[in-house]
Amino acid sequence: MKLLRSAALVVALVALAAPSVQSQARATSSTVGSQSLPLSGLTIAIDPGHQLGNSTHTRQIARLVWVGSYKACNTTGTSTNSGYPEATFTFDVARRVKNDLERLGARVVMTRTTNSSSAWGPCVDYRGRFGKSQHAALKVSIHGDGAPASGRGFHVIRPAYFRGYTDDIYKSSSALATAMKTGLIRGGLKPSTYITGGMSVRKDLGTLNMSDIPTVMTELGNMRNASDASMMKSRSGRQKYAAAIERGIRLYLGR
Ligand SMILES: [Zn+2]
Repeated sequence: MKLLRSAALVVALVALAAPSVQSQARATSSTVGSQSLPLSGLTIAIDPGHQLGNSTHTRQIARLVWVGSYKACNTTGTSTNSGYPEATFTFDVARRVKNDLERLGARVVMTRTTNSSSAWGPCVDYRGRFGKSQHAALKVSIHGDGAPASGRGFHVIRPAYFRGYTDDIYKSSSALATAMKTGLIRGGLKPSTYITGGMSVRKDLGTLNMSDIPTVMTELGNMRNASDASMMKSRSGRQKYAAAIERGIRLYLGR
């Protein structure tokens, strides 16, 4: 009887010990796994342009903020001719980029985490500053353009040299812009037919001027152009945009 009891005790102890040994092994292997992922240890900031509710908060988004000059807090953004909003497009692409980067081990932070018709903002000065406090390595702002219907394709916008604003990030942002353009092309996207070289330099954008980390804005396509619009409205199209942005980020990081 005594022997049986101790045998039962051993069985019970093994049963108790087994799950904890297994979960320890799991924890160890997942730690090792995430350390070996290409973007482990990096934080990346993503700024999905606009917010769906900006169009119903025109007074709030018209407030002027200082970004090296006075600019409106935000704008409504554009849409396709059929009414698919830029805010919805940018938010969906941003979430796809976030998922892809997280699978590669990165921590991803976003300037807005909802796409809601009852929400507005945040303002461009906040979007600009966002990322430094999060210790992000870089920030990519995602937009869709609203240009004349005949033009199509993406363009990348990089910050101009602006003393007191972008002097600290001018060079790194130029490198990020070049890498992003290459990444978007390698991802199967075509550069703009209406912005020379698919690249523009701006000194008036708060999202860029207020940044203290390397940053670019991507205008992924022209929402007013029929073929760009159909790609932007399709899930597979948005995944293609996201994968191309991920390529650009990895090219810049060399990881
Ligand atoms: Zn926009």
